Amino acid sequence: MISLAARPFSLAQLSAGDDVPVLLPFYHLVSDHDHPFQYNYRVLSTKRFREDLDFLLAYFEPITLEELHSGMNLKNCFHLSFDDGLRQCFDVIAPILKEKGVPATFFVNPAFVDNHDLFHRYKAAVLNQFFAKKGVMSDLQNTYADLMSLDQMAEDVGLDWQEYLQKENPYMTLEQLSQLERDGFTIGAHSWDHPEFWLLDEASQLDEIRESMEWLGANFSPKIKAFAFPFTDFGVSPFVFDAIRRERLCDLTFGTAGIKFEKETRHHQRLPMERAGYKTARDLLKAEYLSYQLKRLVDQHVAKRE
Ligand SMILES: [Zn+2]
Repeated sequence: MISLAARPFSLAQLSAGDDVPVLLPFYHLVSDHDHPFQYNYRVLSTKRFREDLDFLLAYFEPITLEELHSGMNLKNCFHLSFDDGLRQCFDVIAPILKEKGVPATFFVNPAFVDNHDLFHRYKAAVLNQFFAKKGVMSDLQNTYADLMSLDQMAEDVGLDWQEYLQKENPYMTLEQLSQLERDGFTIGAHSWDHPEFWLLDEASQLDEIRESMEWLGANFSPKIKAFAFPFTDFGVSPFVFDAIRRERLCDLTFGTAGIKFEKETRHHQRLPMERAGYKTARDLLKAEYLSYQLKRLVDQHVAKRE
């Protein structure tokens, strides 16, 4: 509905205003093949991804993570990021970004790098696809707390995760991530193993941040130490944000609430781009900006966490 309502406005009108946050679109993977992770988000084709980039580059200026951190005027700027460290980031996305000269940050989970393990929502997606091929429709959405039942289900139907990981190589290797860093991209952390933070207590949330940031520091040399909360920053308490600042764990942190103003310092909201129902990035952005401007009218444009 918002999408239709945004039509009469131009993007320039909708993104106008001094208090409009910097644009931070993010993706996971780009693929021209049927992909099981389409159970988690819309998987964009290379054609659509290129169109997204061309559109963004026509209206906004691409900036590096350092520029985002620098405090420069960010009006009409964007910084791209990619979550979960999937193989397509190296094989498909990075070459396109290099060709177009677009900087980006890749947020990865140490537990999955080198295909040591599979994120529980991806396990659920692989099982959904497995069942669909047998003519059974399922919509498994198991959380971190319910990982055992996913593993049990896989075992029951003869799906071996280690075999799957070796055959499909869903994730990038440490060497590929190092290559991305050498190519000028930034590597950031995305928690150790991608749990739902709203199911964790404060101490466990901080452990996930500390351990993944330590791993980042041990394996890479990012000029800006960045952390993107897995799923969302919903349920992350002010105490955790205070600890991040006090212990200097990160220079920048990120949520996924879309185009929203953010009260926490050095914390930004990113915009999920892999959503159904939008034919183009232009449609999605216009709908998001209209929603932001409407919420601003009634003072609801600030990200909430509780
Ligand atoms: Zn993620």
